[in-house]
Amino acid sequence: MGNRIEVDRDRCKGCGLCVVTCPRQIVELGKEINLKGYHYAVQVDADRCIACKMCAVTCPDVAITVYKAPKKRRAV
Ligand code: SF4
Ligand code: SF4
Repeated sequence: MGNRIEVDRDRCKGCGLCVVTCPRQIVELGKEINLKGYHYAVQVDADRCIACKMCAVTCPDVAITVYKAPKKRRAV
């Protein structure tokens, strides 16, 4: 599996900071709402994620976890 983020949907308050911060523009506020009634953030194109963690660092509610793909080992 490649780089990706996981949003804790019920922590998210739909502020959109992660959306504007992502340099790849692959985070959006989704159509679904969470328990608090907010449209929570979703990653739309995980294949383009560079695991820079900008979204996670920016989130005031610490709702985002970034998973970086393990490096491929070179054959010897
Ligand atoms: S880790 Fe970086 S590239 Fe990936 S979704 Fe977050 S801000 Fe965007
Ligand atoms: S920055 Fe955090 S609280 Fe704001 S929309 Fe993104 S995940 Fe939700």
